[in-house]
Amino acid sequence: MKYDATLYKLAHLRYITIVKTVYNQEKLVMKNKILLLAIIGIIFSCNKDENTINPTPENPELLILPIVVHIIHGGENIGQGSNLSTERIKEQIRSLNDDFRRKKGTLGENNSPISDDSFIQFKLTEVTPNGNPTNGITRINYFENIPDKDVNDRPHDWLPKIAYWNPEKYINVWVYGGFPQDQLLGLATIPTTNLPGLEAPLQALGDGIMINALHFGKSDMDSGANLGKTLTHEMGHFLGLFHVWGRYEGKGCQQQDDHIQDTAPVAGPIDNCDNPPLACDGKIAPVNNYMNITYDKCLNVFTKEQIKRMRYVLENAARRKNLTSSNTIDR
Ligand SMILES: [Zn+2]
Repeated sequence: MKYDATLYKLAHLRYITIVKTVYNQEKLVMKNKILLLAIIGIIFSCNKDENTINPTPENPELLILPIVVHIIHGGENIGQGSNLSTERIKEQIRSLNDDFRRKKGTLGENNSPISDDSFIQFKLTEVTPNGNPTNGITRINYFENIPDKDVNDRPHDWLPKIAYWNPEKYINVWVYGGFPQDQLLGLATIPTTNLPGLEAPLQALGDGIMINALHFGKSDMDSGANLGKTLTHEMGHFLGLFHVWGRYEGKGCQQQDDHIQDTAPVAGPIDNCDNPPLACDGKIAPVNNYMNITYDKCLNVFTKEQIKRMRYVLENAARRKNLTSSNTIDR
């Protein structure tokens, strides 16, 4: 089965096919590419899969993963425009941890009986590939490092030409300011392992997560994606989760499958978190699930089965399992 490794999160303008970069006015013609790559070429089963993952134990091992954040900015001073402040970056990592740890009193809290603390968390790395101390943030002026790229290249093919640390030791997160608000929010590559849907090798030059700088961290921007949940969503993909409707959107109830038992089946994104509709099985649709696409304020749930799948990936998958023991952070 051949399919592309790139996934996407697009909020409410999912069908925009042309993205202008604000940096040099060039047009990055997506031509349905990023939109369709995520949904082409996979055959869905009508049934939920046999799940071979063992249950998560009562007190699972805490898995801490190193992140390097590459700020690919347009030449602004630190704290201005796409050259996001160090505090905003640190706040985004805190919020990512709040979500993954279902921390009380934060936007990651929920009281869903099918949710749990994942015991997965993240830390900005403390050591560069050369062994020097770092705060886990690199800042690179795009104009001084314009990569050799074709207009049809995907971000995961050219971002690594600007900055890329060993993906066996670091989760590379590129924060790129060249996309407009509310269009392309983020992208992530998926892991390779024996779980359904994850069998293919990496199909991009770089392994990691790209986040539109406008949607990285909290801001007062007038957008449904201004609370830092895009990174949580993309991290879900990076650790092996699909959208709650699977990889095909709008195919009806019979063709969806996210390979997760405890997410009620839906045919596509669910917008209304105040009055969620019913799912295909008559249960409440999983509108609050991080792997749904809707307003950030609605999102606060990873289910137990999703957590099991992510932990399985971290224990078994190529390009993921070494992250849990990477010596680039103090544990
Ligand atoms: Zn997505």
